[in-house]
Amino acid sequence: MIYDRILLRFGDLTLKGKNQKEFIKALHKLVALKMEGLNVEIDYQHDRIYIHLLDENQEKVIERLKYVSGISSYSFVVKSDKDINVIKETALKLMKEVVNTKSTFKVNTKRTDKNYSLRSMEITKAVSGYVLSNHKLLSVDVHNPDVELNIELRNDACYLYNTNVRAMGGYPVGTAGKGLLMLSGGIDSPVAGYLAMKQGVEIECIHFESTPLTSIESAQKVVDLVKKMAKFAPNNKINVHFIPFKEIHMALLDYVPEAYNITIMRRMMYRIATELAKRRNCLCLINGESVGQVASQTLRSMNTINSVTNYPILRPLCTYDKLDIISISKYIDCYDLSIKPFEDCCTVYVPKAPATAPKIDKAEQYEKAFDYETLVKKAVDNVNSICISADSDIDLPLMGLEVTEVIEMLKMKK
Ligand code: ATP
Ligand code: MG
Repeated sequence: MIYDRILLRFGDLTLKGKNQKEFIKALHKLVALKMEGLNVEIDYQHDRIYIHLLDENQEKVIERLKYVSGISSYSFVVKSDKDINVIKETALKLMKEVVNTKSTFKVNTKRTDKNYSLRSMEITKAVSGYVLSNHKLLSVDVHNPDVELNIELRNDACYLYNTNVRAMGGYPVGTAGKGLLMLSGGIDSPVAGYLAMKQGVEIECIHFESTPLTSIESAQKVVDLVKKMAKFAPNNKINVHFIPFKEIHMALLDYVPEAYNITIMRRMMYRIATELAKRRNCLCLINGESVGQVASQTLRSMNTINSVTNYPILRPLCTYDKLDIISISKYIDCYDLSIKPFEDCCTVYVPKAPATAPKIDKAEQYEKAFDYETLVKKAVDNVNSICISADSDIDLPLMGLEVTEVIEMLKMKK
């Protein structure tokens, strides 16, 4: 292959005004981290990055790029000397490599080196004329060409390419601050976490677990999902906080009318998540709610549930169609895990007729029946936290153990 570099473009980071420098610095750092261990040389510039492939397999680099937020698109490029004769030769070589059936083409030139002796149009003419007369299969079509040959004349060198591939987009993960993702074992919440990271939010995860009411496999599922999501995180690592939820769960079954069980359970989750978010310096909560999806996600339910916190709550999926959510879930390789049928604290007890329009005053009244504040505090104080990396081999084959014991074991293993 004639291509020896991959050019990474930053997308709308340029819109960021004063923050621009910070964003670019963060992106440089992120690319360096994600390319760690590969035999490449990285050229960091203020408006783009070049990854020089050396003898590295380009597929490997492309696979890693899938996980870098803040890159809008990339192109395979060849770097050439700025001498017009060298550019012509390089262009011809490139076109010989990519075109082997009768095709039309067009040359686009962008000249950022304003001191260059030829203007863009003159470069275009010189190169297209040369390629045309030396490549028998090519003819020119400026309106609807089969192949475009792009030439960028910059201060340091000339770059030629003819591909432009869309990349992850968004902002470098971490530049927006940190949020706490409410992570269940379902399809939605990992997708919500991915979309938040893509938008620049670094995440930690909170999971409400009710072992031994629920099986240890449902906790394993959370661990496995986090491993997948960790590939998008700055250091390929994400902190996960397991909240012991069994006691609250039991109290709800004892004291709360069935129709309000889910409403109040979710109010408890929001209270606990808000408290933990404060302790972990997270600036928002994130969850996988989608308007109308289930009884607890009608707008009325969301009002009654949301009223226990004044923390910002990001719901990246609030208007998403389930099919679109599923296709992202597959893209981030979480789908097969998410559909594994292990129960979690939401599915272990499902009321027959949950309230779809629960009222705040009624929820408050039912909550008076038990000392929930003490339970909430106890749950937060007894959190079990663990840092999970993308390549960790955490396996919880330990039926019957409570998550507390498992986490203790994992910490010892580390
Ligand atoms: P599904 O894909 O089946 O909808 P879900 O995880 O979205 O799964 P919901 O009951 O719709 O399940 O829950 C809405 C949101 O509440 C979840 O997306 C998640 O953010 C949060 N949530 C639910 N259960 C838990 C839990 N056990 N721990 C942490 N967060 C949870
Ligand atoms: Mg859901």
